[in-house]
Amino acid sequence: MSRLEGRVAIITGAGKGIGAGAAIRLAADGAKIGVVDLKEEFCSETVNAIRAAGGEAVAIACDVANSEQVQQAVEKVVSQFGRLDILVNNAGILRDALSFKMSEEDWDAVIDVHLKGTFLLCKAAQKYMVDQRYGKIVNTSSLGAWGKRGQANYSAAKAGIQGFTKTLAIELGPYNINVNCVAPGFIQTPMTRDTAARVGIQFEDMVKKASAVIPMRRVGEPVDVANVIAFLVSDDASYVTGEVICVGGGERLTK
Ligand code: NAP
Repeated sequence: MSRLEGRVAIITGAGKGIGAGAAIRLAADGAKIGVVDLKEEFCSETVNAIRAAGGEAVAIACDVANSEQVQQAVEKVVSQFGRLDILVNNAGILRDALSFKMSEEDWDAVIDVHLKGTFLLCKAAQKYMVDQRYGKIVNTSSLGAWGKRGQANYSAAKAGIQGFTKTLAIELGPYNINVNCVAPGFIQTPMTRDTAARVGIQFEDMVKKASAVIPMRRVGEPVDVANVIAFLVSDDASYVTGEVICVGGGERLTK
């Protein structure tokens, strides 16, 4: 039996990047997946990949910063698959600028998608998890939580997610619900490619420069994060809660 057989998962921002990698990995482990992204068509590639491999998935359009849409998305997954065991909060955006130049809109947008979105999904999902006395939540922080020039909004949101995760772990532990964080370093995804394009650097040069200072001497792939998420949502991690697992090839050690 696959280790997530019979389990149902929601993964946000799963149309591409780390979220797509996590959705495909958890489906391979036997879970049925609610693939959440801003528009249904953004989910197609991930849903098709899961179905092609023999798994089950449903595409759900939802802006994670909108409480009504979040509620509907969670209800849709439960009505489709009958339960909800796993939540991976992964959706994210960047609106980088030095603090003195950062607009209020860019501050709010990043805090809303990452921090409020994580809160809204956890709040909507925990109801089902508490009732069934079983749940696994993985939130996505970042090495940026420890500070990164030009990312005050992102860093604040990602640090906030760590505090929120630890608090939720205390509140939900008595109901057999584990709540943990992954904190990725540099992972090759559309987000990091967009960053290179925005600052006018060849992506390959950016990767080479980053790899030179990371102890593992390479940047990460979505599967590196997906593998850690797969562990945290499995019963192998049933006595792990409130933790932040860095997935950055040792980059955090050099900061
Ligand atoms: P990505 O390639 O940009 O993928 C993010 C996904 O989230 C996209 O599909 C995006 O939709 C979706 N999304 C954005 N806003 C949303 C919203 N309001 N509601 C629902 N979905 C939304 O990013 P990634 O690199 O895979 O990053 C995934 C997570 O890991 C993020 O939380 C990010 O902060 C974190 N992280 C990434 C890295 C890295 O190096 N890549 C490092 C540390 C942490 P669109 O199609 O509209 O873009």
